[in-house]
Amino acid sequence: MNRFSYTRAASLDEAVRALAADAAAKIVAGGTNLVDLMKYNVERPARLIDVTRITGLDRIEESDGGLRIGALVPNTNVAYDARVEERYPLLASAILAGATPQLRNAATTGGNLNQRTRCYYFYDTETPCNKREPGTGCPAVSGVNRIHAILGASEHCIATHPSDMCVALAALEATVHVAGPGGARAIPMAEYHRLPGDRPEIDTTLKRDEIVTAVALPAEAQAFRTNYTYLKLRDRLSYAFALVSVAVGLEMDGGSIRRARIALGGVAHKPWRRTDAEERLAGKAADRQAFAAAADLLLEGAKGYEHNEFKIDLARRAIVRALGQAAAGTPQSQVDKRIR
Ligand SMILES: Cc1cc2nc3c(=O)[nH]c(=O)nc-3n(C[C@H](O)[C@H](O)[C@H](O)COP(=O)(O)OP(=O)(O)OC[C@H]3O[C@@H](n4cnc5c(N)ncnc54)[C@H](O)[C@@H]3O)c2cc1C
Ligand code: SF4
Repeated sequence: MNRFSYTRAASLDEAVRALAADAAAKIVAGGTNLVDLMKYNVERPARLIDVTRITGLDRIEESDGGLRIGALVPNTNVAYDARVEERYPLLASAILAGATPQLRNAATTGGNLNQRTRCYYFYDTETPCNKREPGTGCPAVSGVNRIHAILGASEHCIATHPSDMCVALAALEATVHVAGPGGARAIPMAEYHRLPGDRPEIDTTLKRDEIVTAVALPAEAQAFRTNYTYLKLRDRLSYAFALVSVAVGLEMDGGSIRRARIALGGVAHKPWRRTDAEERLAGKAADRQAFAAAADLLLEGAKGYEHNEFKIDLARRAIVRALGQAAAGTPQSQVDKRIR
């Protein structure tokens, strides 16, 4: 058992000051990931700063024609907010595809963004792992790598980012708002999570002493409220992370695509987008040929390992199916939403 102190911050300023003052401190929100990691001895913070009582971070507000979701809003509350359901159903759908109702009640928006990989070796302190202990190696490359990355990986780490919510946020081009000792700043979703490169221990571009305060959904992304799909392929229908997931938003013009957004989950260290694949769909008839061409671009350079080679073909089929569903206006989310 590692000893740690616990502080409940009464304000954002107090939380930022406490985090900046102690390099071994960590923010805790819903605790559904961090507390598990502490029990496994993977995370060993000397101090926990509980941000859950900070007022103002627990609301969903109108902002520039879009919505601003506070970092403390539980996943459930985002998914069932009437404005999110109506204007950003892709996000509601992705959140409801994740975890379980109980977990979604506790998990927060800020915590979901910053949850860590589910790589088995990362959780097992008996094995080396570059993400947990930099410089020790990556046993997943030649080990059990069924859930691992096929895109954007490096020899140092082939882990994936496990979030469903973040895949939809990437497709909707959300912005992450953060606060730190130097003030507030905004990070485009595409730049929030990073690829592992030779620093796999760093998951995001959030600085150590910064706190996520909100996620903003842009007004223009409401254009994807009719033709969208979040397709998640996994080992079980509930309580399982994505092997491959696809978030699609289309703006249709009759049978043609005016504008497309596609993000993949379960395949890389961050939600995976290729804007050239999206641009190539613009002006095209919504048919299998166009969808297959987009899939080829999205999966360009994909590399499988011993146990996850199947993901490349799975992703290709999932992209084509998700684009077809979105174009037809038949999102799977209609099924998920009945399960509260
Ligand atoms: C059994 C199980 C199944 C799951 N299945 C899925 C799934 O299918 N799909 C999916 O997407 N997720 C899944 N999850 C993960 C779940 O969504 C995350 O655990 C949850 O979103 C984390 O939110 P939290 O508020 O509990 O974060 P915490 O556990 O409190 O924190 C997680 C991390 O975020 C940091 N953090 C928290 N808030 C902030 C903030 N405001 N600013 C900066 N850093 C912050 C913490 O320091 C910590 O590093 C599953 C979890 C479990 C346990
Ligand atoms: S894939 Fe990444 S998280 Fe998993 S063992 Fe390798 S370095 Fe660690």
